Amino acid sequence: MTGATRRASPGPQAAPTVDAARIGHFVDGERIDGTSGRHGDVFDPATGRRTGLVALAGAADVAVAVEAAGRAARSWRDASLARRTAVLFAFRELVHARRDRLAEVITAEHGKVLADAAGEVQRGLEVVEYACGIASALRGRFSENVSTGVDSYSLRQPLGVVAVISPFNFPVMVPLWFVPIAVACGNTVVLKPSEKDPGAALLLAEWFVEAGLPAGVLNVVNGDAEAVDALLDHPDVRAVSFVGSTPVARHVHRRATLTGKRVQALGGAKNHLVVLPDADLDLAADAAVNAGFGSAGERCMAISALVAVEPVADALVARIAARMAGLRTGDGRRGCDMGPLVTAAHLARVRGYVEAGVAAGAVPVVDGRDVVPDGDPNGFWLGPTLFDRVTPDMSVYTDEIFGPVLGVVRVDSYDAAVALVNANPYGNGTAVFTNDGGAARRFQHEVEVGMVGINVPIPVPMAYYSFGGWKASLFGDLHAHGEDGVRFFTRGKVVTSRWPDPRHGGVNLGFPTQT
Ligand code: NAD
Repeated sequence: MTGATRRASPGPQAAPTVDAARIGHFVDGERIDGTSGRHGDVFDPATGRRTGLVALAGAADVAVAVEAAGRAARSWRDASLARRTAVLFAFRELVHARRDRLAEVITAEHGKVLADAAGEVQRGLEVVEYACGIASALRGRFSENVSTGVDSYSLRQPLGVVAVISPFNFPVMVPLWFVPIAVACGNTVVLKPSEKDPGAALLLAEWFVEAGLPAGVLNVVNGDAEAVDALLDHPDVRAVSFVGSTPVARHVHRRATLTGKRVQALGGAKNHLVVLPDADLDLAADAAVNAGFGSAGERCMAISALVAVEPVADALVARIAARMAGLRTGDGRRGCDMGPLVTAAHLARVRGYVEAGVAAGAVPVVDGRDVVPDGDPNGFWLGPTLFDRVTPDMSVYTDEIFGPVLGVVRVDSYDAAVALVNANPYGNGTAVFTNDGGAARRFQHEVEVGMVGINVPIPVPMAYYSFGGWKASLFGDLHAHGEDGVRFFTRGKVVTSRWPDPRHGGVNLGFPTQT
């Protein structure tokens, strides 16, 4: 079955509900139900069935979790580096051994295909492995004899209770961008995963305890905006790592700053792939398809705008369309290339953008609206969609669609391509495809984007570098994981020490200087 096979159905029908599992919180080492009485639906996006009923925490539930984290912080901050890293090594082994189980849970709640879910687990594991080396990352500096008989040295110490708030699209990787480094640095954590796919976070928390993490060091509170705001307002939460859409990231940054917290809020994206006339067009077409439609376009590093510098557009569009004809959209458990969208509401939103693109005059080279999926007809399906002749005023260009919709914008020159990328309010990721080293070097220098790929479409940095965009894609100063992650979850202290010896100098009220 190919993306070219269509059905006329407008989308998913009302799906029968199976027995929905109750999904609660994980506080102080135990699963608990919570007290708010509010619940949200969790769906299997490939069948449209409601499979879970997740508790939505209120302020009282959040307070219980923060209290547990506060109690645990008193001893965890003093745990030796050897003890902390022993837990991380054990956790790494558990996740590695159970990565297929984790991938199944991701696919069942998010919809991405199993191979993609396994890739997400792998990228999360890389941060765990980085955190296993925290002893080296936390090393301070020492200067002997900064003054006669006086030494100075720097330390980095934990903050206390920190909150991690994650989006639906990476239910394992994004929590693992932060949690391993936060706990390795001696903090305790309240994690608030997306209410759309909360299952994986609970497993991670249980496996951390199994690996030896004391109860209360990692707590999971499920919920929606109410839980997030309760975390932002709680006086004992010292720092907030947030990942999600730009409007919510802006809100989180503002509110956390108002309440005196340290905050990094990673937001949305509109990522451009620029193809220069001398590029290898087959390589560029492969990249556009992989980065445009992988995970059904629900990646913050997905490519959604392809900027073709003429005269390559016709040839590039033909190559991309040919590759799309071979893509199989369907249930992620059946070996398909691309899965469904996460919810019926999100599907309706993305379809709305496709309709708006057609109405605005973009050319639908491949229209995914009526794809015949290899899966339950009640799933949240939209096939890969390719628009040509998109212009920067169309909503398919201006907005983050977060679905399998790739738009080709034709420009006349390298300068016009860079100007387009730099004029965009987002600055998460971008890529240039070219065989000209000088052009690539100029691009990496001039482009106002935080993560840049050169003949690499999704330039997600490895765990030992830091991940983060510019402009409306990140609010705050420090990026996620790597050295920035360690700095974010610690604060610096400098000690100046003198051990009296028989020659100490007596009273002197002058300002201390080196002597
Ligand atoms: P979202 O902003 O809707 O939700 C993110 C988190 O915020 C969730 O935990 C959610 O419960 C909570 N939330 C939602 N509305 C809220 C509100 N009004 N007040 C307080 N909290 C609220 O994002 P999403 O749909 O789950 O994820 C997709 C978005 O995340 C996309 O925009 C994508 O680009 C972005 N994202 C960015 C990165 C990055 O690294 N920059 C990575 C992954 C995803």
